[in-house]
Amino acid sequence: TVVYLNGKRVDYSDAKVSVEDRGFQFGDGLYEVVRVYEGRFFYLDRHLERLKKGAQEIYLKFDFDIEDLKEVCKKAVADGEFKDASVYIQVTRGAAPRQHNFPEKTSCTWVVIAREANPQPEEYYENGVSAITVPDERWMRCNVKTVQLIPNCIAKEKAKRAGAFEAIFHRGGIVTEASSSNVFIVKSNKLLTHPANNFILHGITRGVVLEIAEKLDLELREETFSLDQLLDADEVFITGTMTEVMPVVKVDGKIIGDGVPGNLTRNIIEEFRKLTKTVDQ
Ligand code: PLP
Repeated sequence: TVVYLNGKRVDYSDAKVSVEDRGFQFGDGLYEVVRVYEGRFFYLDRHLERLKKGAQEIYLKFDFDIEDLKEVCKKAVADGEFKDASVYIQVTRGAAPRQHNFPEKTSCTWVVIAREANPQPEEYYENGVSAITVPDERWMRCNVKTVQLIPNCIAKEKAKRAGAFEAIFHRGGIVTEASSSNVFIVKSNKLLTHPANNFILHGITRGVVLEIAEKLDLELREETFSLDQLLDADEVFITGTMTEVMPVVKVDGKIIGDGVPGNLTRNIIEEFRKLTKTVDQ
């Protein structure tokens, strides 16, 4: 594991931040997880763009150059000589004596942690995984990728205890996304996914799937769908940086479609994998 703290390489055991860091005390920070395939960054620029937008949303002013952050990401992967890696980026509003108001004088804490990727087992992609549904109890600004992830952690833990891979959120019966992925359904060859508004994270992988759908000339609508539509879908899949494009074949114990990954899902996975072998940006 390679760690850079505020732009400087530090030993893992020395990589520490203040007890008064606002990330620690208030969850006052943002993060990104970026995937590296065979040394190539998979849409790092899009992740950094989302990070910048998130910072504007929470009035977090970067006091470092985003280009430096980008360089540090690359250095961290190079230092570790990782081929397939995950790169975790976190930026907080910094450390100051505890008070809710934003401190006037402090500097951001920014961290880059690179490690060997831990991909999902191939059989999950071949056979599909199961999911449960849970009420979406998060705040109303899920488009901001903050480090406040307790509802997501609880949801994921519930999934684990139910023997499922993922927990799918619904807000009053409308499916939003999942604890760490976006959700797509296929019905009569049409793809549906929740619109990119404040109720979901605008996943980078989600965006890539939108591009794939266009390329494959699939009918895709960014439109809300209900829990009933989810359970009644022909195919369901979830998307995320570490999840990639993952077929879901069982939801709340109910078999989806034929209980195996569907054709559209498989085609999208194939196209996605081509991109992982070429994209470097
Ligand atoms: N939705 C949530 C709540 C997430 O936490 C994540 C990723 O961590 C995603 C969706 C997928 O986003 P991305 O494709 O950018 O990894």
